[in-house]
Amino acid sequence: MSMHTPKTMHAVIFHAPLDIRYETVEVPTPQAGELLVKVHHALTCGTDLKCYKRGHPVLLRALPSPFGHEFAGIVVSLGEGVTEWTLGDRVVSANSAPCYDCFYCEKKQYNLCEHLKLLNGAYAEYIIIPEKIARTNTHRLPDDLPFEIAAFTEPLAVAIRAVHGIGIQAGDNILVLGLGPIGQLIVKVATLLGANVTAVARTPMKLDMARSFGGAVQTISIAEGLNAHALVQDHSPQGRGWDAVIEAVGLPETWEKAVQLCRRGGKVHWFAGCAGGSTIALDTKRVHYDEITLYSLFHHTPSDVKQAFDLLASGQVDPRPLISANFALANVEEALKGMEAGRFFKASILCFP
Ligand SMILES: [Zn+2]
Ligand SMILES: [Zn+2]
Repeated sequence: MSMHTPKTMHAVIFHAPLDIRYETVEVPTPQAGELLVKVHHALTCGTDLKCYKRGHPVLLRALPSPFGHEFAGIVVSLGEGVTEWTLGDRVVSANSAPCYDCFYCEKKQYNLCEHLKLLNGAYAEYIIIPEKIARTNTHRLPDDLPFEIAAFTEPLAVAIRAVHGIGIQAGDNILVLGLGPIGQLIVKVATLLGANVTAVARTPMKLDMARSFGGAVQTISIAEGLNAHALVQDHSPQGRGWDAVIEAVGLPETWEKAVQLCRRGGKVHWFAGCAGGSTIALDTKRVHYDEITLYSLFHHTPSDVKQAFDLLASGQVDPRPLISANFALANVEEALKGMEAGRFFKASILCFP
């Protein structure tokens, strides 16, 4: 069953780092259990920018590859056997779904599912939602929820994992290093939980956003570089370091600094992945005798996605301040470059003119 769809569409295809092309490709036909969704809004993401610059170890497999993974749209065609979705449904999908059957899924480590295939192709007029994602990780938008807000479900799920995944509680003093879009959402989620957030970045635009959007109680500029000792002495509670430090930068240097910034008995969350092959040095005395708990969680699970969707649908999180630019689908590359230059946090890609 389907609404009228054309035979071809425009899509942005990833060929290699620094080589993405706006092309005309066939509109795919949904197979059994799949949905064809007309993409309404897609969002640029820090991960897409990383991919654009250096490729990605797990996100983009065979090249050339469809590209983009944050989107919301309208169901326009149903594969055989789909019963829980209807033509015209406004939906948002996560970019993966676990199989619920493998070794890791049986241990409820859904984000590590052996069959996790990451969905790409949001920078296109239409996208196929694979059967597993359609069944377990897609949500129907309430009528009053705009597409561009719903499209934040995936990045917000990631932020929820960064915060809830390490057991942050009300009253905790948290340090967030790095205030890109995910860093900003982490500040927001931690504040909603009742934590006191100190946010650290290099640029005033990021620090201002962490206060106005995220509710950070303290912001610190490290335009001059990050001196961990001075930061702890001058800005942490009683000069002891923070209860938890979340690294949202993705650089080995900041992974190392994060360990120096947390208090004795505290937690470090290395949340942003570094380039493949990166290594760091750790002071074992610090980790052991100061009893630092180290976390490094990856991706998200359907329960994180559901929580994120509910926060957006209920209006508890309105992420629109993070969108400060709109681009046509043909101009995704320009949007990514604008992000890289620090001109805005996220761009909204209008997939139809
Ligand atoms: Zn993303
Ligand atoms: Zn699995």
